[in-house]
Amino acid sequence: MRWKRETRTAPPAAAESGAADTALTDTARRLGETRAELLAARTDLATLRGELAAAQQLARQASAGEARARALEQLLLRDAGAQAADRDRTIAGLRAELEQTRAVQLAAVGLPEHTVARFLTLGGGLVALLAVPDEDRYESPPVYGYECLTCGHQASGAYRIADGRRWANEHASTCRALPAPVIDLPVQKGATR
Ligand SMILES: [Zn+2]
Repeated sequence: MRWKRETRTAPPAAAESGAADTALTDTARRLGETRAELLAARTDLATLRGELAAAQQLARQASAGEARARALEQLLLRDAGAQAADRDRTIAGLRAELEQTRAVQLAAVGLPEHTVARFLTLGGGLVALLAVPDEDRYESPPVYGYECLTCGHQASGAYRIADGRRWANEHASTCRALPAPVIDLPVQKGATR
């Protein structure tokens, strides 16, 4: 009732009142806009925070993945190293076995009488350098020669050991005959001239 009476009794103030209303409405609108902007900014901030967290998570995962890959690589390298060491041990063992077998093989080879030196042939056999006493001439120096225990080639008649050694060595460096298996080796007996 009072409001009706006021509007009725104060019509001249209507223009002023309208302007004030407009200003108020304006302010309210701006306030609303500002609130909306603030809300939007908050939403953006929340989105950004979420994105940042996701990025950080990805970075952590990538880092963990990288660390795992590095660990795996180390493990593989260690494994490869261990395998190589194993293989080296096996090779060393086989080499030792081979040396032993060769030694046994050499021991099984009967060397001719008067053998003073041996030469390894190209084919892996032996040439025996022989110093055979000259039975015709007492106290005379021996006669030198060689016998190839692999191909059977022989030579004799050198009166200086240097010549006998050279002959034996020359034959050894060219003889390609392969030593027979140990069980088939003929027993070498005495030197011949
Ligand atoms: Zn030979």
